[in-house]
Amino acid sequence: MCRFREYLRAIPGEHANALVQCGRQEEKTAMEHALLERRVQTLVKLNPALAEAATLQKTIITVLYAATAPIRPIVLPLRRAREKLSGGVPLLHGESVFLDDGFIRDVFGRLVNVLRSRADTAEKAGQLAEAAYEHRLHVEHAVAEAFVNHPEHLDQVAIEAGVSPELLQMLAQLSARPILKAYAEHVAPALQAGRDDWDRGYCPMCGAWPGLAELRGAEQLRHLRCLRCGADWTITRLRCPFCGNDHHDALGYLQAEGERRFRVDVCRGCGGYLKAGSSFDAAPTELLALDDLASVHLDIAALERGQQRPPEPGFRLELVDGEDDLDDD
Ligand SMILES: [Zn+2]
Ligand SMILES: [Zn+2]
Repeated sequence: MCRFREYLRAIPGEHANALVQCGRQEEKTAMEHALLERRVQTLVKLNPALAEAATLQKTIITVLYAATAPIRPIVLPLRRAREKLSGGVPLLHGESVFLDDGFIRDVFGRLVNVLRSRADTAEKAGQLAEAAYEHRLHVEHAVAEAFVNHPEHLDQVAIEAGVSPELLQMLAQLSARPILKAYAEHVAPALQAGRDDWDRGYCPMCGAWPGLAELRGAEQLRHLRCLRCGADWTITRLRCPFCGNDHHDALGYLQAEGERRFRVDVCRGCGGYLKAGSSFDAAPTELLALDDLASVHLDIAALERGQQRPPEPGFRLELVDGEDDLDDD
């Protein structure tokens, strides 16, 4: 069991950073897989107890790496993007987003198969596959609710279909990630251009709370990362991303003795917490899940001290109706 110490926060200055752009697809894929393999090996070496969870994550990430979501361009003039950002409105909010039914069913089906092959999830995943097969569960509907991050609607979909709400939440959220990521990458230039206009703690693309902070480089600049779409943004330093509290004496962090990579920032104003890990570069979106897993002991430490993650998303995303009915390609 880890021993934790509490510290007051004191972090050097920070600024936004350009998103990493990668080269050719094939090269990128090979690099991604090599990195995934290395990161899983390191994780298991440091935390042998997480071996099984890490293997599952590796399989899921491999499915997500292989899934390139088809999107339709969003027309977002720079002026409108900057207006949205300065008003605290995530860039995907109120836009027409194309969700490809075939893509959704394919990714969802692959992920269900992963869980059906595991003893602990086989039964519930089987029930879910059966409900989809019998058209009690509309997978496209579930993933659309995950895309806009309306957990209570997803629970309702699960109850009506007679499947496990926890499992549906997990699978629908995972299936929505490649689509969220594709749109976030598409809209990234607008965020980059308007990054100084954004001062909120939630994701400037999809409205979710940050899942992790990355402390980058020698100066440990603090970047917030969205575990859904992979967005990367910064807010004023020494400020709670959840409630905006910037009283230094109400912000602290916990770090396990002997631990160098991860810590957890806590706010005594709202009781929120956010894990933070040192990192050379921005982690690829899919690999953020491994950092989340590698630092699970910090979730436990924070929860044991009465800290929690906000139950509601930072901003409730809504989309305008697309043109699916006109889709003939
Ligand atoms: Zn996001
Ligand atoms: Zn707070």
